[in-house]
Amino acid sequence: MNAALETNDEVYLVATADILGAKFSDLGKLRSNSLRASWRSLSESVDGKLTILESPSQVVAFARHVQASTVFASKVFDTNGVRELHAISKDLGLSGIDLRTSGGNYAVEPGVVRKNDGTPYRVYTPFFNEWVKHNPGPPVKVSSLVRVANSVNFGFDPNLALASGIQAGEEYAILTLKRFLATRVSEYSEMRNRADIGGTSHLSHALSHGEIHPRTILAVTPDGKGGEVFRKEIAWREFYADVLWHNPSSLTEYLDPKFTNMRYEYSEDVFARWCEGMTGYPMVDAGLRQLKTTGWMHNRVRMIVASFLVKDLHFEWQHGAKWFEENLTDFDPASNSHGWQWTAGCGTDASPYYRVFNPVMQGLKFDPNGEYVRKYIPELRHLGGASAHEPWEVSDGYSHGYPARIVDHAVERNESLARLEEIKIHYPKN
Ligand code: FAD
Repeated sequence: MNAALETNDEVYLVATADILGAKFSDLGKLRSNSLRASWRSLSESVDGKLTILESPSQVVAFARHVQASTVFASKVFDTNGVRELHAISKDLGLSGIDLRTSGGNYAVEPGVVRKNDGTPYRVYTPFFNEWVKHNPGPPVKVSSLVRVANSVNFGFDPNLALASGIQAGEEYAILTLKRFLATRVSEYSEMRNRADIGGTSHLSHALSHGEIHPRTILAVTPDGKGGEVFRKEIAWREFYADVLWHNPSSLTEYLDPKFTNMRYEYSEDVFARWCEGMTGYPMVDAGLRQLKTTGWMHNRVRMIVASFLVKDLHFEWQHGAKWFEENLTDFDPASNSHGWQWTAGCGTDASPYYRVFNPVMQGLKFDPNGEYVRKYIPELRHLGGASAHEPWEVSDGYSHGYPARIVDHAVERNESLARLEEIKIHYPKN
């Protein structure tokens, strides 16, 4: 946008509803409303002059309609975004309209951080050690938008009123950042894994919607342990974007191809129980119900529910990733696909497949008093303290309709490891 506003021409501000390869109409209610909230905030900041097109394929027709000579777009690096932009660029070219890309929502662009031999990293720590040497640059300032031309009715109404009451936008993102820095960053390294405590920044929604730039965040992140660990989390986002940029097919395919050959299960009923948070494992169910009711899930619990789907229920990770895509208000293609693959043991880094999260032990460790579980699972609210994590251990554990465990974790853990052995025998060198 800044690049467009530097010209003397008339500038239209345009967003597309179908994004990142997904149809807007297929998204879950919370995710689609969070997009509406971001558009509403952007639209309000330009006195209603934002035009929302239904799909990226309409950009060319719109540009022709307003007789544009140039379309300015933010740089994108994810698999579907690159494909969409490539198609737009081709069609614009046929109409004699230029496409100029600039900006992008990373401190260091994907593709820039490389090993000495020029190859990309697949392990986080050495990536971080190199990434941190790059100066991300100053905070990003958005040019004044007063010059934006009136919006154009292009036949699509996303019904922004549905987002009333949801906070979003740049101003809200800056407020969220300030609040985090004032109250939580100093204890971030100790508290960020606690599901029962709001110890993290909650900036993921703003980052994924481009409402705050990581450079703006990094410029004010303090030194000290909390700040250092927080900076490393921002770098995880950049690492996954880099990995996806170099391996576009890993959006939906196994980064480690030997896992394609593993034995997997699929059952609609079982999947529905996982999605609805009815597996009978409190920490898993609380996470999935947090997602369903808020559109966000704590990072530690994302790992727990992902491990459970892949290693206890033996599903392929893509099923869970798709559910997250439809429902997470902070959905990000790279962090999602690679967060799933890391947990499933088929992605980057040193997370081996044989690391199977024990959902009960994880719950006792990261929600020691059972508060997180009770908050999201009404059927367990009558149980005090940590007993909410093990309703099978108390006589009235199931008196309010909480379901029995869908599988036996100890049995499925062994089953999962046996399936790993099978692919090791067939693909010993991978
Ligand atoms: P904070 O702890 O405050 O971290 C600050 C920022 O750093 C986050 O906003 C995020 O941009 C980045 N970050 C933190 N942890 C990670 C991580 N493990 N990987 C990548 N970036 C990270 N994050 C998304 O933004 N979108 C997704 O679709 C997404 N899907 C995930 C799926 C799985 C299976 C897993 C295990 C993780 C996923 N994550 C995803 C990463 C992480 O869970 C969220 O970024 C984090 O929970 C957001 O909350 P926060 O902003 O309070 O994080």
